[in-house]
Amino acid sequence: MDIKICDITLRDGEQAAGVNFYPDEKLAIAEKLVLLNVPIIEAGFAAASPSDFNAIDLISREIGLDSNAPIICSMARAKKHDIEVAAEALSQASNKRIQVVLSTSDIHLKYKFNIGRNEAREITQEMVEYAASFGCEVEFAAEDATRTDTDFLIDIFKIAVDAGASIVEIPDTVGYASPAEYGELVSSVCKALPDDIIISTHCHNDLGLAVANTLAGIASGAKQAEVTINGIGERAGNASLEEVVMNLDTRKDLYKIDTDIETKHLLSASQLVSHLSGMSIQKNKAIVGDNAFLHESGIHQHGMLKNKDTYQIMDPEKIGWAGNQMIIGKHSGKYALLSKLRSMDIELTDDEFVNFYEKFKRFASKNKIIEDGNIQEMAGHN
Ligand code: MN
Repeated sequence: MDIKICDITLRDGEQAAGVNFYPDEKLAIAEKLVLLNVPIIEAGFAAASPSDFNAIDLISREIGLDSNAPIICSMARAKKHDIEVAAEALSQASNKRIQVVLSTSDIHLKYKFNIGRNEAREITQEMVEYAASFGCEVEFAAEDATRTDTDFLIDIFKIAVDAGASIVEIPDTVGYASPAEYGELVSSVCKALPDDIIISTHCHNDLGLAVANTLAGIASGAKQAEVTINGIGERAGNASLEEVVMNLDTRKDLYKIDTDIETKHLLSASQLVSHLSGMSIQKNKAIVGDNAFLHESGIHQHGMLKNKDTYQIMDPEKIGWAGNQMIIGKHSGKYALLSKLRSMDIELTDDEFVNFYEKFKRFASKNKIIEDGNIQEMAGHN
């Protein structure tokens, strides 16, 4: 695979306002991530609460034992206690990773920690070394990286790499970057670090650019993308897994990148997370929204019935949508209606169809939802 998907639904996703997953719910989502063939699962922030700790421990035992299992990751602030608790929660996992997070922007250093850049350098070195001493892979995340002075960011990353980090993450913590800027930043970091160091994206959606920024990062050399199912997360959320994956899949001609994700489970993963998080999916959301593959206007339906490629760039069945995703409504034309009648085994003469069509147009102008039973009735076949 060319890019590793690191799912962070169970950590950053859970930080969405009002979302709280119990350990068994986190396990159910993690099992779905295994079906999706996600190689890295950030299962929580072990030191945050006993529930977070228990969920990481449970996932490590239930799906992380095997040597081929996904990497299980816990977040830790750059503090000894956080790192110790993370290592303990991960102790049963075969493949484990601690993600050590420290802010690097001047505004965070000053107002969150009241420390200077030199102190940040020292903490980075000490805490990455400490995390590595537990025998885990270490990812170092420079919180608020996109508002950090680039030279200082690279300096900090070099320190983290020398101290034992094999993955460095460039979070757009506040969703501030533009795709061009984010791509350029990833590219500068890639050039400055050894080739075997994995650069990871982590983009927030405050300006609606999380997926675009993630793709810009991938096109500029990032080898890991941190994403969440349905894009849930702090504030406006994170880059959505299903959108990033289907961009790379649909535009393989452009990106030339494989994810190895089993896309046929994307819809059911989305529905599971929506159900357990209590966050409904907007109807027009790309890939997994109810309307994502529905065609209603007559012109579009006519085209679709002749050749799906006219208005469809992805095969909905590839994502887990089954059957004909065409809804019948006031915009539907005669061609779609004839096709619908045929699918219901209703044959009408030309005169009957004219009569049906008039009734249909009247009914559809007053009713948004048109059931098969309504169609049968209007066709006189009930
Ligand atoms: Mn985040």
